Amino acid sequence: MPVSTIWVLAEPTASGINSTSLELLSAAHALGGSVEAITWGTGSQHAGTLGAHGATRVHDVGDLAGSLPGVPVAAAIAQLVAAGAPDAILIPTSYDGRDIAGRLSAKLDVPVLTNVVGLRDEGGLVTSHAVFGGSLDVAAKFTGQGPGIYVVRAKSFVAEPTGGSTAEVVALAVPDTGATGLATITSSHVEERTGPALDEAAIVVSGGRGLGDASAYSMIEELAKLLNGAAGASRAIVDAGWVPYSHQVGQTGKTVKPSVYLAFGISGATQHLVGMKGSKTIVAVNKDQDAPIFSIADLGIVGDLHKVLPALIDALKNR
Ligand SMILES: Cc1cc2nc3c(=O)[nH]c(=O)nc-3n(C[C@H](O)[C@H](O)[C@H](O)COP(=O)(O)OP(=O)(O)OC[C@H]3O[C@@H](n4cnc5c(N)ncnc54)[C@H](O)[C@@H]3O)c2cc1C
Repeated sequence: MPVSTIWVLAEPTASGINSTSLELLSAAHALGGSVEAITWGTGSQHAGTLGAHGATRVHDVGDLAGSLPGVPVAAAIAQLVAAGAPDAILIPTSYDGRDIAGRLSAKLDVPVLTNVVGLRDEGGLVTSHAVFGGSLDVAAKFTGQGPGIYVVRAKSFVAEPTGGSTAEVVALAVPDTGATGLATITSSHVEERTGPALDEAAIVVSGGRGLGDASAYSMIEELAKLLNGAAGASRAIVDAGWVPYSHQVGQTGKTVKPSVYLAFGISGATQHLVGMKGSKTIVAVNKDQDAPIFSIADLGIVGDLHKVLPALIDALKNR
């Protein structure tokens, strides 16, 4: 049966709705049928944005009074499903998204498809999953009773306004969650950053083990700043403790799709490529002419990054 109703988890952030949620709304709208969002906290204040990206209705769990979202939101969605199930529930790959998906799966006794990077309707949803570091695409579909729960990776779709009007907001009550709902957030920390977020930047400048040591990463940050971009990293230098995990690009880090991706001293392991190969233009600097990164680079410099990076920084400063 073709997909007729899709729910999308719309995660609130400090500044609005998380970008993956908007990508999922656009993808759900493109599949046709009716699209509804489920949100909490300040999410319903963005009914205009949610409507503009395809949602006709927003189910609002409201203020969570300091609770972690997983328990109350999953319980509220499960209750809503009991009143009338959609064909699919799309959930962003995020900490809270994964928590909600796992709890919902247990409550509804249905499986979850994770790491989804593509969705198509073939009389039922068929998903794509990039496996083996992105070297192979696997298609999957649920054969049992739904609703299907799909946890989708960031940047798998483009968030595009659909021309829809402000979505109707409906309160969604949380049933009694007993002792499971007692964990509360005691403090939270918003990471300080200047410039655009890594997964939203138009230009990403990334560094890898070829930098030689942690102090050389300051050149990556300086170039990123001069280009009004964001600084990224390979896992090798995250694991080495040179930069925080939030900078990591790749299979187990962030997926980025900037207009320009500059890779300095990154070999181009498949696990790194899977997180950045969707970039429009890829520029690689590596002293090894056989480095795999050159196989997907639009422009390559075979050379020492310790010469190329300072020269680029100087050229931009003297512009
Ligand atoms: C399950 C799993 C998940 C993973 N997830 C990720 C992930 O999300 N992201 C990720 O990045 N990796 C990931 N990895 C690790 C990945 O396989 C690679 O080990 C890692 O990407 C290598 O990082 P690198 O390119 O910085 O280092 P290396 O592979 O050591 O490459 C360093 C490169 O720098 C070049 N170089 C050295 N000196 C210079 C110089 N002076 N000038 C120019 N070039 C120079 C070298 O020629 C070399 O190509 C994962 C691995 C596994 C098993």
